[in-house]
Amino acid sequence: MRLVFKFGGTSLGDGERIRNACNIVRTYHRRGDKIVVVCSAMGDTTDILLELMESAVRGERGKLDDGLERLRSAHIAAVEYAVDGDGLRNEALTVIEKRLNDLTYILSSIYFLREVTPRSRDLVLSFGERLSTWTFTCTLRGLGIAAKYLEGGDAGIITDSDFGYATPLMEETLNNIKNTILPLLSQGVVPVVTGFIGRSRDGAITTLGRGGSDFTATLLGSGIKADEVVLWSDVDGLLTADPKIVRDAKVIPQLSYEEALEMAVFGLSLIHISEPT
Ligand code: ASP
Ligand code: MG
Repeated sequence: MRLVFKFGGTSLGDGERIRNACNIVRTYHRRGDKIVVVCSAMGDTTDILLELMESAVRGERGKLDDGLERLRSAHIAAVEYAVDGDGLRNEALTVIEKRLNDLTYILSSIYFLREVTPRSRDLVLSFGERLSTWTFTCTLRGLGIAAKYLEGGDAGIITDSDFGYATPLMEETLNNIKNTILPLLSQGVVPVVTGFIGRSRDGAITTLGRGGSDFTATLLGSGIKADEVVLWSDVDGLLTADPKIVRDAKVIPQLSYEEALEMAVFGLSLIHISEPT
């Protein structure tokens, strides 16, 4: 089967969880399924990045440095736990360090300018998915699976320049996806794609809106005509309420499409609606 597996922030919360997710991929890969992986950022990285930009604009150097340190230690600990093999782990860490340094430079610029534009905000937000996806790719390789790291744009997701809520140029995107992903699958390679981000025509990184990794997964699924798109989650199904708010929320055993649509309109986070094109 041709499958797209998307792992959310909670499923990638730390090194142990990343490894568990990679083991799931390995199980299906061994069975002969062709798998494309989509990763969200680790845990609440995206929220932290938003806070860091706010601190930078307000000129709060101490908060900025503390937050960056938190991100740095969480990502390095995840790589150290998840990636097998000294050589591979060092290679993984070198890239992570470089990314974190780039992020530090960009946030420092925002700090000095006291201003962030929609375009630079998207660039900063993209670091969450770029860090987690690289970690996931290296963890898969450590488990003996040929895996290729791809950013949204590399996979073919081309969008307009509506930063923060960019819309993919559908025909071109689906066509690109087919051309980049299918050859990898036929070589037995697992493409590991950053969720949430695309690329504008002039090469800037764009984001697809909060929670956009699910959208990335369905775009990829549509482009490769996948048999299934699986959004791996830390809940057992659709619940009667957000379990972070309502403790005893219950799994809904059965739901019609209409009811699901209605829940989506009222903000259910696992289902997204889009205008028919
Ligand atoms: N990391 C992004 C967010 O938190 C995208 C996603 O998780 O789907 O909104
Ligand atoms: Mg997220």
